[in-house]
Amino acid sequence: MTSASVLKNKTSGYKSSIDHGKSEEREGRNCIRYKCVPLNTIKDVMHQRPNWIEVKDDGEWDFNWCDVGWLRENFDHAYMEEHVRINHFRNHYELTRKNLMVKNLKRFHKNLEKDMGRTEASKCDFFPSTYAMPSEYHLFVEEFNRNPGSTWIMKPVAKSQGKGIFLFRKLKDIIDWKKDRSRSEEQKDAAHLDSYVVQRYIENPYLINGRKFDLRVYVLVTSYVPLKVWLYRDGFARFSSSRFSLSTIDDKYMHLTNVSVQKTAPDYDPEKGCKWQMQQLRRYLTAKYGREVVETLFGDMDNIIIRSLQSVQKVIINDKHCFELYGYDILLDHNLKPWLIEVNASPSHAPSSQEDYEMKYGLLEDTLNVVDMEGRLTGQEKRVGGFDLMWNDGPVYTEDLNLQTFGSLSFTANTHLGCVNDREKNLRQLLKPFPLQKKI
Ligand code: ADP
Repeated sequence: MTSASVLKNKTSGYKSSIDHGKSEEREGRNCIRYKCVPLNTIKDVMHQRPNWIEVKDDGEWDFNWCDVGWLRENFDHAYMEEHVRINHFRNHYELTRKNLMVKNLKRFHKNLEKDMGRTEASKCDFFPSTYAMPSEYHLFVEEFNRNPGSTWIMKPVAKSQGKGIFLFRKLKDIIDWKKDRSRSEEQKDAAHLDSYVVQRYIENPYLINGRKFDLRVYVLVTSYVPLKVWLYRDGFARFSSSRFSLSTIDDKYMHLTNVSVQKTAPDYDPEKGCKWQMQQLRRYLTAKYGREVVETLFGDMDNIIIRSLQSVQKVIINDKHCFELYGYDILLDHNLKPWLIEVNASPSHAPSSQEDYEMKYGLLEDTLNVVDMEGRLTGQEKRVGGFDLMWNDGPVYTEDLNLQTFGSLSFTANTHLGCVNDREKNLRQLLKPFPLQKKI
């Protein structure tokens, strides 16, 4: 029996507070019982949070930071009381598995075109042409033949950290691969056959010092209906260790920017690492191209986030117990157009340096602040620590005082990716002290 199901027959004294009936319900319990995956940064954040107590094995819990494997095995059998929170939506994979994400985006694009016309639909043109393999093999071959000489990337749908990925330019490479795959998958049923996607390789990435990079952006969804989305100010760019060139396509250190790949490069320097903080990138681009260009770029990234979430809004099983902290992977091309590469349900929280640890610690702490098990928020906040509310059943705006002209205020999107993250100052002003005493 899962810990959540244990709750079914017991009265849990603590009732959380998200958006409703706060203090009275809360008074009965003086701690929050959490269950957590054994990963360092997450464990540290929960362990150090006042009045949070870890439960082991089958103990009752109020908050669970689980992995997707736990979710798959337990979620459907669990009864959860009103106040309980868990860090994934039941069918998160609709957005976070590479083939399903593209399927949902293609459908969303088609519906937009039908209902609102081409211009509106073109706002979803932010993912490279992608085909599920092997089911869309023939469609892919048609597209391949229309673009002779172009480069493609083959990716397993359910793996991560660059595992099993390769680039190719000739159909013969994939014919051999296809034969091998069909032999090994003969036993499986058709539903499991689509285990790869083939995608147009972005051949003109934006380079800094000759190196390719992609961006990791953190997005917190606390509800799908209505859609409520928070964007974190920090993030980073992950650089490849070799200078980019299209003359060789076999060098993973040149073409794949995953930290887990780059760490194994022979010339990887752990002191220097392979990351830039988002603020550093934003400053670099602003110095080079000016504020307007950079604001357009960051606005385009906001667009990617919101439209990708809208593409699964009707598919994801909305559940008031669930929230999700997504890791978006975005690549810039040399025209500063951002492309969505993938969305991760369990972005790595393993730190690659002290600075990285502090950033991830703050991110996770602020995730707990937004989820607000302690009931310290009013529900009206547009900012909590490093998170800015970007969508609340519609765009969220901020009053931009710099643009104030003739008594009328201009409104801009309430997003500040790569801007100063003075989270502690904000939290000091925003949050009442923790209301509960730790129970010994
Ligand atoms: P994984 O889940 O294994 O990390 P990704 O889809 O994120 O797989 O791809 C790994 C890396 O490969 C990315 O971080 C990026 O550097 C590179 N990559 C993936 N898709 C493309 C693409 N279409 N064009 C250019 N580079 C890509």
